[in-house]
Amino acid sequence: MNLGRLNNILEQYPPYRSRQAYSVVFDNLFSSWEEATNLPKAFRAILARECPLQIDAEMHESGNGKTVKAVIQLDDGVAIETVLMRHQDGRNTVCVSSQAGCSLACDFCLTGARGFMRDLTAGEIVGQVLLFARRLKTEGERVKNVVFMGMGEPFLNYEAVMKAIRLMNNRDGLKIGARRISISTVGIIEGIRKLSREPLQLNLSISLHAPDDRLRSRLMPVNRQYPIEKILDAVAEYIRLTRRRVMIEYLLLRDLNDSPAAAERLAVLLRRSLGWLFFVNLIYYNPTGKYLPSPPERIREFQRILESRGISVTRRYRFGREIKAACGQLAGSSRIRGSLNITTTQE
Ligand code: SF4
Repeated sequence: MNLGRLNNILEQYPPYRSRQAYSVVFDNLFSSWEEATNLPKAFRAILARECPLQIDAEMHESGNGKTVKAVIQLDDGVAIETVLMRHQDGRNTVCVSSQAGCSLACDFCLTGARGFMRDLTAGEIVGQVLLFARRLKTEGERVKNVVFMGMGEPFLNYEAVMKAIRLMNNRDGLKIGARRISISTVGIIEGIRKLSREPLQLNLSISLHAPDDRLRSRLMPVNRQYPIEKILDAVAEYIRLTRRRVMIEYLLLRDLNDSPAAAERLAVLLRRSLGWLFFVNLIYYNPTGKYLPSPPERIREFQRILESRGISVTRRYRFGREIKAACGQLAGSSRIRGSLNITTTQE
């Protein structure tokens, strides 16, 4: 959906037409202006020509129906992937991409290996949520949560991401509560600082994945520019300003960052830097050929050590492995070129 073009058209009409058109997109969740029979035929024809509502996507559904991966083809032929996760308690979470590709080259991530194509526009980000909102509407359900944990680094496309979030949250938009929207970052400090001054009460997650700079720089080259201590200083300031609890994401890689000693170092580091307003989300690694996942007993021990230090720990539920919709599994899985990599969300 080209939001800029839609707004340009609507500027030429009285405000009530804008409200009607936005309602068609975000309340009725129509896939075509033709369905909006409350609008004059000539107006519908202009909108259909200049700003079609159709979203071209190839869908892949897991056998248990809990995960749906969509490969969306954008106007310029670039394809992005987005994932719907249906939780047992009825929550529906959409994991969105903020960029086509990624420039940060994290060593465990297939998206990083494929390089950067371009930033997504706000309309292309919102379109990912709209696609699943339309699908869920047919079942009498709606999107409850949105997580920016797909392809790309949201804070390297800050303005478009925030514009998309405002539209998701806005009462003229998708009406998704700010507290149900999460941004995950590798620790782009400027983005953390900007977010701490935003009026919306969004959730922040930090992809840490290592207890020290040496290991983190090996896994995530961006750590050379944004080392752990500087990131955690920015997060501490974010917590002080917002009083919001931050999620620290930690991907467990066998014999690399999953030892009891690593858990001890992580616990000390986080408690010293962040105090109490955070929790750790342990992520199971979906093998992509480079590393091995930690065995379950190692994960349990890692969790036990963190909890023994008074740290709250959650474990990320695994969605969509068989349709390659889980963390690190999506690249190259689609017939559409430019296939992307999406991570799953926490429970
Ligand atoms: S993990 Fe995220 S930031 Fe790192 S390369 Fe993959 S998409 Fe980019």
